[in-house]
Amino acid sequence: MNFVKTVILGSVRFIIQIIFFVVERITDFVDALAFKFITVFQPPEYIRKGACKSSGTCCKQIGLSLPWSWVKRPGIVALVRKWHFLRYNFEPLGMVDNMLVYKCLYLKEDNKCPIHRYKPKLCREFPARKLIGKVDLYKGCGFYYVTRKAEKFEAVLQNKKR
Ligand code: SF4
Repeated sequence: MNFVKTVILGSVRFIIQIIFFVVERITDFVDALAFKFITVFQPPEYIRKGACKSSGTCCKQIGLSLPWSWVKRPGIVALVRKWHFLRYNFEPLGMVDNMLVYKCLYLKEDNKCPIHRYKPKLCREFPARKLIGKVDLYKGCGFYYVTRKAEKFEAVLQNKKR
């Protein structure tokens, strides 16, 4: 019975992954265009720099916020948890205020993502580039943000060195 359940779950998840992969690639394109267009008029406050160091921290402590009106309804919270398990393979760790906390069951021992090329938009976009403000990063994360002013300053120094 367990085997049958696993096969059904795996198949449903696979179909959902394919559908979302296609839809998210289309929305990625539209989002990128919109971001480019908006930044012509409103340049982002911060520039994201650095790269992933594969610490695995952001895959072991994933926080997804819910609207407060949903938090009061355990049925909805349970449904969202089921969806996140089905869609992302996230295992619930608990809840902090209105934030569901998960760890990803895909993550391997060496902190590498086995579905890196096909991982969901949620993962691909973390840490997000924002117009205003920046994302809070975990300690030891390879990414960091600098203000646009600092970025220009750095560029001037680089040019001087050459
Ligand atoms: S899918 Fe990959 S990148 Fe996303 S949380 Fe899981 S291991 Fe991390």
